[in-house]
Amino acid sequence: MGLKVWINGRLYDKADAKVSVYDHGLLYGDGVFEGLRSYGGNVFKLERHLDRLYESALAIRLKIPIEREALAKAVNETLHVNSIADGYIRLVVTRGAGSLGLDPNRTSDPQVIIITDYISLYPQELYDKGLEIVTVSIPRNHAAALSPRIKSLNYLNNILAKLEGLQAGCSEALMLNLKGEVAECTGDNIFLVRGGALLTPPVDAGILEGITREAVMELARTKGIEVREIALTKHDVYVADECFLTGTAAEVIPVVKVDGRSIGTGEPGPMTRDLITRFHRLARGAI
Ligand code: PMP
Repeated sequence: MGLKVWINGRLYDKADAKVSVYDHGLLYGDGVFEGLRSYGGNVFKLERHLDRLYESALAIRLKIPIEREALAKAVNETLHVNSIADGYIRLVVTRGAGSLGLDPNRTSDPQVIIITDYISLYPQELYDKGLEIVTVSIPRNHAAALSPRIKSLNYLNNILAKLEGLQAGCSEALMLNLKGEVAECTGDNIFLVRGGALLTPPVDAGILEGITREAVMELARTKGIEVREIALTKHDVYVADECFLTGTAAEVIPVVKVDGRSIGTGEPGPMTRDLITRFHRLARGAI
C-alpha cells in the first residue's frame, strides 16, 4: 500500500494528491510551509512549527482554514495511517485557486496539505568528517523586501544560492545579507564556536528563526555555555574554532571547510560533537 497524502481533511493516494494549476501557490509561490521530523512516532517541536506556520501565514495575510489543534491532530493521524515512526513531514498551505492575476483576494479554497514521507539524511560520513561549504554571491533577501522569517513557498532566493553552491561542489552554501554579514545557509542556520562561546547571527541579520537553532541554543545554555546572537562576518567564520549548521533535516552537522579554508583543526570540534550527541538524545526523547 502506497503513501497517503492529507489535503483539506481527506486522504489521497500519493498519485492522486493534486492541486489546481490555477493555485497561486504554484503560479506565484503564494503560500507557506513547514518541514518537521518525527522520531519514534513523536513529532519534534510540533507546537513550535505550528507557531511558525501560523505566523508565516499571518505575515502574508493568509488565513489557514483549519484550527491549530485540528491540524496537529491531522499531522499525527497522517503519520499513523502511513505507519511512519521516523519520518519527515511537509506541511503546505497555498493561497488556493484564483484568476491569473496576482490579486490574492480573487482566490478561494486555500489548500492545506500534509505529506509524510521517509527522510533522506546527509550520509553519516559527513556527520563524522564534516561538511564543506562556500559563501555564495547571491545575498539573502532583504527583510524589508521579503522577510526570511516568513517560511514562504517562494524559495528562489535560496535555490539560486544552492545552485551556486552546487556549482562549487558543495551541498550547502553560506548566504550573507546585504550588509555583508553572515545570515544563514540555504536550508540551515549557522553557528560558530569561539573561545568556548557559541555564536550565531541574530534574527535581524535576516534569517529564518530555525527551530533546531532554538533547541541547540537551549541545550548549550543548559550546559552553562555562553550563547551570543551577534552580527558575524566571513572573518569570524574563518577564525572560528568550530562551525556547524542546524536544521530539521540535517539536525546538527559539522562544517570543517568554508571557501576552501579549514576551520579550526579541520575536523569536527568537541563542542559540535557534544551538541550532536545531546541533540540526538533530545530529539529521540531521552532528555
Ligand atoms: N534557514 C532556512 C532558510 C531554512 O529553510 C531552514 C529549514 N526550515 C532553516 C534555516 C532551519 O530551520 P529549522 O531548524 O526550523 O528546520
